[in-house]
This record gives sequence, C-alpha cells and structure tokens, in this order.
Amino acid sequence: MLQENYLAWGRVKNRMREITAYGNARKAEIGAENVFDFSLGSPSAPVPEAVTQAMLAALEREDCHERLPQEGLPAFRAAVAEELNRRYDMQADPAYVYVTVGAAGSLAVSIHALLQPGDEAIVFVPFFSEYRVFIEGAGGVVVPVGADEALQPDMKAFQAAITEKTRLVLVNTPNNPSGVVLSEESLARMSALLRTAQERFGHRIYIVSDEPYRELLYERETIPCVMNAYENSILCYSYSKSLSLPGERIGYLVVNSRMAERDEVFHAVRNAALTLGYTGAPALMQHALTACVGMTGDVSIYKRNRDLLYDGLTALGFTCVKPEGAFYLFVKSPVPDADAFSEAARKYELLLVPSDSFGVGGYLRLAYCVPTATIERSLPAFRRLAEEYGLQGE
Ligand code: PLP
Repeated sequence: MLQENYLAWGRVKNRMREITAYGNARKAEIGAENVFDFSLGSPSAPVPEAVTQAMLAALEREDCHERLPQEGLPAFRAAVAEELNRRYDMQADPAYVYVTVGAAGSLAVSIHALLQPGDEAIVFVPFFSEYRVFIEGAGGVVVPVGADEALQPDMKAFQAAITEKTRLVLVNTPNNPSGVVLSEESLARMSALLRTAQERFGHRIYIVSDEPYRELLYERETIPCVMNAYENSILCYSYSKSLSLPGERIGYLVVNSRMAERDEVFHAVRNAALTLGYTGAPALMQHALTACVGMTGDVSIYKRNRDLLYDGLTALGFTCVKPEGAFYLFVKSPVPDADAFSEAARKYELLLVPSDSFGVGGYLRLAYCVPTATIERSLPAFRRLAEEYGLQGE
C-alpha cells in the first residue's frame, strides 16, 4: 500500500520543479537578468553575521562532531523554550522541545506520531504541497477545507468537515503560498469548534501548527499564538527561513506543556522520529544556534519586495490579498485556468507557479525572495501581460 503511494507520488507532475528547471535553462540561454523567476521559496536575506560567527565558534569545540541525545542538545532545548516564553508567554517546557531536521522533519514526525491509518487530517487551502505527502505517508486522509475572500479558513466549511475520524488539523501561519497570518478570530473560533468536537466524539483532536515563517512579518511583531489558544497542539518550526539556513536542516517541534497527555505524545514523537530514521538533528547547528535562538535575518528586504510587487501588480489591475508575512504573493488568475495563465506569462519571461499544487485552482504563487532589482525590472513585463488579458489598471 505505502509502496504504491511512493510510486504514485513520483509520477505526479511537479509544476514547481518543472518551472524552476525551465527557468534555469532559460537563464543559461538569455542571461539570468532577463528571466523573472518567482518560482522558488528560497530565502535571499543574508545569514546574520552573528550566526556565521557562532558556527565558526561551534567548530572550535572539541565535542562539536559528537552525537547528541536524540531529543537534542539540552542547552539548545532550554534556550528555545526560554525564547518562546519570552516572546509568546507560552509556558514551553524544555522537556517537551524536540530538535528536528527542519520543519519538514517536525511535520513528518508530529503527523506520524498523531495519526493512525484511516484518520482524517484537515488542511486549509491553499496549503503547502508536501502536507499531502506527510499525511498520506502516515496512512491518513487529507480533508481540504476552503478559505474566505481574505484567505482565512472558511469556518462553516471547517465545522462541516469535522467528523469522528478527525484526528488533527494542520495550520500554517504565516502561510505558504499566500503570506496570510491566521487571525486571532479564526484561531479562537477554530479552538472552540475543536473543543466541542472533542467532547462530542470522546477523543482528542490536535492542532499541528507549521510556523517556519513566524518572524517574517511586515506589520506586526508576533503572530496570534496557536499554542496559547489551544492546549492539544504541537508547534513545528525551522530556522530555514528566519535565518536563511535551509541547507542546514535544523528546526524543532514543541509539544504543548498544557496538553493532558503530553508525556505520551512526546514519547510517540520520539518513536515516530526513530521509525522515520531521524535519530537526531545536526549537532554543529545545535551548538551554534544555542546562542542565536532569538535572531532573525534582515526582514526589511522582503518587506521592500512585498511593497514593490504588491503595489505594482495591484496598480496594473491584478488582485491579491496583501500578505502580512512570509515571502509569497498569491495572485488571482484573470482566467479560471491558472496553468494556462502561467504558460502565457512565460512569453514575457515571468515564471509564476499555478496554484493547483497548493490544493486550489485559479491563483498563482509569486515567491518574492528575489533581488529587488528583479522585481523592478519585471514590472514592465507584468504590464504587457496585464494588457494581453485586458486588465484595467490605474
Ligand atoms: N512548511 C512550509 C509552509 C514551508 O514553506 C516549508 C519549506 O518551504 C517547510 C515547511 C519545510 O521547511 P524546512 O526546509 O525547514 O524543512
């Protein structure tokens, strides 16, 4: 059964990878400066100098290559909990912090720990395409729930989607691909509905909150805190985006210390990680980041890009929700077939990812973690595209 899944996933066309590969070939052909590649969510802010220095200092340690406890370096786990409590007043306990191989590691481990085959996992569209792989890989069933105009979860649809098989709800804030932050109101309503459902069905329902973009915020200091709003929750985090370290594969998960069965869940997390082959996370990064847990790269770069692209595109007549965080813009396709629109955009060397891989049709994702000059130079190309589709700009 699982092997069949693995084969099937391999056959599904990956539009994002295909577009990136096309972009690389095109850059070799006509020069990188002439291709406006918005396909990849790879952070472009420089790694903070203090992090580089901490990595060099970690290398000087005699024990820097030694294997660490499976749960992670105690000093790192303590620093993570302290930082979460300082910023979010979360009552995080180092005993329930588990260091992982990036957010992908946190998600795979949490989902495998919580789901039994046949259990349902609710995800909100648009959602990060790999959620399907994590959930179905654990034998679970993906239950997508739609969004309202502001791209907040549609609460009526959410209520209707909760069944006695619902075991977990996966949220992502700020969101990839929309940049939308889950509002205080959405979170409160979601928590209330889940508490009622838990009572009705007589079993626990968990929220897994995927927050790798938590510090990439443009108007606010912090996001509404899932762990404070709902006790049966696990927080998944990574330093891939906030410190621009996607290749170092370092992150963590935190089991809510207010969860009644936190010890059992943490135990299940530990064993799920072993089953998946995660016998620990990179030691060097844990030594280095112990002194850097509260740091963030230069977010002003992304804010400048967001403003330029959002203002530029809306002035041309494109519509999109203004993102509060992350580095993505989720633009409505002027025609129902976003894939066809993405193809048309290629004529102008604009590489945009159609939204079908995010569980919903009719949109395009633009990753604006690119040099600001790329955005500036792309605007005339967007103008020609808008004209082709008869959009009414300012
Ligand atoms: N979750 C979301 C929403 C993401 O966008 C990504 C990466 O792009 C991940 C998880 C995986 O992050 P990591 O690279 O830390 O495994």
